[in-house]
Amino acid sequence: MFDVAIIGAGVIGASIARELSKYQLSTILIEAENDVSMGSSKANSAIIHGGYAESHSKVKGRFCYKGRVQFSKLDKELNFGYKENGSFVIAFEEENLPKLEELKANGELNGLTDLSILTKDEIIKLEPNINPEVKYALYCKGAGICSPYEFVIALTENAIHNGVELKLNTEVTSIKEIDSKYFEITSKDENKIYARYIVNAAGLHGAKVANMLGDKSFEIYPRSGEYMVFKRGYGELVKQVIFQMPSKLGKGILVTPTYHNNLLIGPDALNEPVVDLNTHVERLAKIFKLALNSIPSLDVNNFIRSFSGVRAVSSTDDFIIRASEVNPRFIFATGIQSPGLTSSPAIAQEVVCLLKENGLELKENKNFDPYRKPIIPDPSKKVWAEGIEIKKYVDLPKGDPDRFVCRCEQVSESTINEALNRNIPITSVDAIKRRTRAGMGLCQGTFCRSRVFEYLKDKVQDRADINTDIQDKHLSRVSKSELLNYMKNN
Ligand SMILES: Cc1cc2nc3c(=O)[nH]c(=O)nc-3n(C[C@H](O)[C@H](O)[C@H](O)COP(=O)(O)OP(=O)(O)OC[C@H]3O[C@@H](n4cnc5c(N)ncnc54)[C@H](O)[C@@H]3O)c2cc1C
Repeated sequence: MFDVAIIGAGVIGASIARELSKYQLSTILIEAENDVSMGSSKANSAIIHGGYAESHSKVKGRFCYKGRVQFSKLDKELNFGYKENGSFVIAFEEENLPKLEELKANGELNGLTDLSILTKDEIIKLEPNINPEVKYALYCKGAGICSPYEFVIALTENAIHNGVELKLNTEVTSIKEIDSKYFEITSKDENKIYARYIVNAAGLHGAKVANMLGDKSFEIYPRSGEYMVFKRGYGELVKQVIFQMPSKLGKGILVTPTYHNNLLIGPDALNEPVVDLNTHVERLAKIFKLALNSIPSLDVNNFIRSFSGVRAVSSTDDFIIRASEVNPRFIFATGIQSPGLTSSPAIAQEVVCLLKENGLELKENKNFDPYRKPIIPDPSKKVWAEGIEIKKYVDLPKGDPDRFVCRCEQVSESTINEALNRNIPITSVDAIKRRTRAGMGLCQGTFCRSRVFEYLKDKVQDRADINTDIQDKHLSRVSKSELLNYMKNN
């Protein structure tokens, strides 16, 4: 019998698991997929938002800044990759100035103290490649970028290290309350898990999981957003995260460096009848055109990959963080659309308070260890091999820790082994990709996929478990040639 079962190992479930590991509790984190961070938490803009964009009247408005300010400490403890590079919301028209002032006032109501409105000269000094037509920008000095899936992996590894149990490949299909005391949680493969409290952090499936105990108080609707990733190094084109003016559907198209120095543009926003993770050439072409308004020198030839993320938009258009109306030991942390990644540390703390308010006894875990070593050595200190030297490392024999398994991202065998030796079981080539970046470079895994597989099959005893599929193979992802062709003809 567990004290708490958390359903869903995205950034919300993983943050809650780690927060609960600070107490003397038995906690289980249950995930339907074969790894953590397989939902919205893996495919998003990766921005640690300032906290000015969502209204103070909304939970998401009040939680964003509270989460943001915790990232620096979290990264020092967990080493997942975070950088405070600041953000701009840019305006090209004089009449947009009041809208920027409105955002600034809203941010200040949300607690922010690092907002200012910059004029053209000030903007260009900080961001030389920006469209020179720019007139004003709302500048948020403390906004940042992170590696979102590495964050979830780090949170989960640390939670496990502090006593949390992780159960992958376990899709919860029904929940039953027994004797008004505890829950019986049944998974697709008919396994039973028993827990006194349940936290529903099931992302897009939050309403479905709520319904398992008869709570129909909200719905979740999918809203997709597509992106274009540009090659590593091209992130230098911009320093800050550059947003255009927000609209009703979201924060608009952004241009940003990623933590690992790729460039990212997107997302658009489309309400979908069902979850759709394909990318579409006409949507990407539109995103690229809109991004040119921010950075006119953007070169489509540096595009390497497209992807889509799906927001879990709730029927209240807000985060749903509360106890269920049908059972106070059933706690919701769902409907967590943007800025959910940023808000996640604050959401986790709120969920712990809700569990306590509803009777869970919390005794400090004096052995809690907040630290977790990085898998990827500090990228800012990485010395990149060049020319003939690359081949030398690639050709080293298997078993040499310096051997480059991935050529484009220069991922060595020691990094692959580091990923394989952590406490989250790894059964797919893509799980290694998310932890090491092997396969994220120019060739997108053409060279290294089979080499990575060699290490995986040595490590994983039961070969039947290994998932060698190219991630989301069934999905249609727009290629560079397809996009270039479309743009030439339209
Ligand atoms: C396009 C886009 C851009 C975004 N940009 C940003 C941004 O820049 N900054 C920011 O702060 N936020 C951003 N967000 C929001 C952020 O990504 C989400 O708020 C966050 O990832 C939600 O995390 P989650 O854990 O609730 O959901 P998820 O990551 O989706 O996790 C839910 C998990 O539950 C599992 N699950 C579901 N049902 C079951 C079941 N029955 N049994 C077991 N497991 C189950 C799923 O497999 C999944 O792994 C963006 C989101 C999108 C889609």
